[in-house]
Amino acid sequence: MPSALITGITGQDGLYLAETLLDKGYDVHGLIRGQNNPKLDLVRALVPDVRIHHGDLTDLSSLIRALRDSDPQEVYNLGAVSNVAYSWENVALTTDVTAKGTLTVLEAIRLHVDDDLSAIRFYQASSSEMFGKVTEVPQHERTLPWPRSPYGVSKVFGHYMTINYRESYGMHASSGILFNHESPRRGPEFVTRKISQGVARIKLGLQDEIVLGNLDVQRDWGFAGDYVEAMWLMLQQPEGGDYVIATGETHSVRDFVVAAFAHVGIDDWRRHVRQDPRFMRPAEVDLVVGDATLAREVLGWKPTVSFRELVEMMVDSDLEATRQGW
Ligand code: GDP
Repeated sequence: MPSALITGITGQDGLYLAETLLDKGYDVHGLIRGQNNPKLDLVRALVPDVRIHHGDLTDLSSLIRALRDSDPQEVYNLGAVSNVAYSWENVALTTDVTAKGTLTVLEAIRLHVDDDLSAIRFYQASSSEMFGKVTEVPQHERTLPWPRSPYGVSKVFGHYMTINYRESYGMHASSGILFNHESPRRGPEFVTRKISQGVARIKLGLQDEIVLGNLDVQRDWGFAGDYVEAMWLMLQQPEGGDYVIATGETHSVRDFVVAAFAHVGIDDWRRHVRQDPRFMRPAEVDLVVGDATLAREVLGWKPTVSFRELVEMMVDSDLEATRQGW
């Protein structure tokens, strides 16, 4: 039975990836940070077969211990301080965890395998936030990065360090440049889930308005469940590589709002949406849209959930959760 270690197991992608790998017959291990992590119960409830290891991306010896105890053939580094807005307020922490944490995982692997770097295949969660102030449209694997937030800068560091370990040590290290990917498990600090939760509560008469920032920005939004399959596919290739994972379609935050309200039969969405500078960012990423040709041709990957289906899935899930009082 192959074995995999996932950092960031408590997040949206960690949970979907754990389910995917368990379905494929893997022995799945997850790294959990901190004492009494409030998300541990969620992991135990959703993926009870995952074996938990305690450790922290900033703590090399804890990572080496987790590698020794899980003995994986594949390591997926999904752990990060991952919210863009939050990253300006926590610049040093974001850099320590999201940037340097990637290097710490790579070093832990190198020390653990005792220089037989073919023993472990490595996946790094890179991000379309690396493209920031985009230098071309659409963005592909060789587009020049121009990050616009401490989070984006940290992801650029992790991306190039992954490439560097591949080139320096011949490590099977891959980097998935994932464009925004959402699901009912997305945290409410991200705009899609904030909207789907707000629309569900407005529909059920529990709240009146959603307060948002910039409605004009455009994102390439896909379904997280589709995207974790691409992570696994990258590690099944004969060699590591870098792949953009995206739908190739772009929509504004306003489009998401309109589609979410329309799904619950509310046409007059303007009555329920207020803009507040509090949710504007010091520097904005105006438009990202990815070209996933390489992933389609080499990995045979393509998205299965459309923008409309994604919006409806998230709103339906929040309607159900709100009705049940979850
Ligand atoms: P990001 O692309 O990783 O930053 O994902 P987010 O979901 O946090 O933000 C997507 C876009 O929505 C960004 O350009 C935000 O500026 C914009 N946005 C507008 N209003 C809001 C809001 O209230 N919360 C968040 N998180 N983003 C907002």
